[in-house]
Amino acid sequence: MALKFKRVLLKISGEALKGSSDEIYDKVKLEDTARQVISLTREGLQVGIVVGGGNIWRGKLAGTLELQKIDADYMGMFATIMNALAIEATIKKMGFEKVKVYSSLEIRTVTSSYNYRNAREKLDEGYIVIFAGGTGFSYFTTDTGACIRGIEIEADALLMAKNGTKGVYDSDPNINPNAKFLSNLSFHDLVVKNLKVMDSTAASLAHDGKLDIVVFDMNGQDNIIKIAHGELEATFIK
Ligand code: UDP
Repeated sequence: MALKFKRVLLKISGEALKGSSDEIYDKVKLEDTARQVISLTREGLQVGIVVGGGNIWRGKLAGTLELQKIDADYMGMFATIMNALAIEATIKKMGFEKVKVYSSLEIRTVTSSYNYRNAREKLDEGYIVIFAGGTGFSYFTTDTGACIRGIEIEADALLMAKNGTKGVYDSDPNINPNAKFLSNLSFHDLVVKNLKVMDSTAASLAHDGKLDIVVFDMNGQDNIIKIAHGELEATFIK
């Protein structure tokens, strides 16, 4: 089947790289994700990636070390940069050299400063482009960063990868066995039904920027490849 999109922004959580491992990273998950993204890029899909940092650190852990929220948030953003470098290195290790990391926070030694025009050019040239550092601001999330980057690179869709959930339900399927799966949603539904897909800042941005969102389960054989071909049951938000 043909690719469903020309250019996408794939959002992966930090936990997705950890899998069930006790370590920060699960090598198998990292390599499997890299393999699928490389395969899609070789097929002609333009892929941008935003990765979270929850496998390493989250702002809400500030209290555990009696830190200020802002410092803890910067630590979280640095965690996303570590994850971006881990994905970049894995992609290169697997023999695909055209990969570039742009960071919202200035780290000149190993990342490039973000510039949306350069990022679009690199995507056109067939690079896998990884956006690190979230928005670069505290009090935000990588979901918000993903929406901003998705809009700025003019992605056809933001592919929001979940771990073990095939999309959005009308209530928590882990708690309510009768929870109903929702395959098509509007942004209005998202707000009115108070569905927890992403934080409200991210949802509002996606709405304003007319960014389509696909919520899918990345766990499962070749699920990233499948969703890019429209071959996976998922939730489509327009
Ligand atoms: N973060 C931030 N600004 C951003 C993106 C992330 O301050 O633009 C921080 C925030 O503390 C967050 C952490 O980085 O908890 C990791 O990001 P992620 O979105 O993965 O957070 P999670 O949803 O896992 O808490």
